[in-house]
Amino acid sequence: MHQDPNCIFCKIVAGQIPSKKVFEDEDLLVFHDINPWAPVHVLVIPKRHIATHYDVAPEDSAVLGKMLALAPKLMRELGVVNGFRTLINTGEDGRQEVQHLHVHVMGGPRPWLRG
Ligand code: AMP
Ligand code: ZN
Repeated sequence: MHQDPNCIFCKIVAGQIPSKKVFEDEDLLVFHDINPWAPVHVLVIPKRHIATHYDVAPEDSAVLGKMLALAPKLMRELGVVNGFRTLINTGEDGRQEVQHLHVHVMGGPRPWLRG
């Protein structure tokens, strides 16, 4: 499925729900987490609806690679120069709350709220 009409992150991609955008290209969208754990906390998502990390197919490899390759560049641009944390929650035991694949990228000076 390209987009899921009931998915909150698909709605953000479609502009139906506002977000604080950091980066956008044809494949990816990056926006600030609404409930940040750290001074800088962004979510990197594929524009195409992929529900979880379990649902990644071989043809998604390039997009996944782009997501990880982008993170350090964005952190530097956001002033995060002393390290950051990159996290994917998957499924129930992984405590994934939003069922659209996303990479949390968190950084900034300690202490953090969580993580
Ligand atoms: P996860 O537990 O990995 O599924 O994390 C989902 C994340 O999405 C949480 O950190 C939420 O704060 C964040 N989130 C949920 N809704 C929104 C939204 N409308 N805009 C930005 N971030 C959101
Ligand atoms: Zn979605």
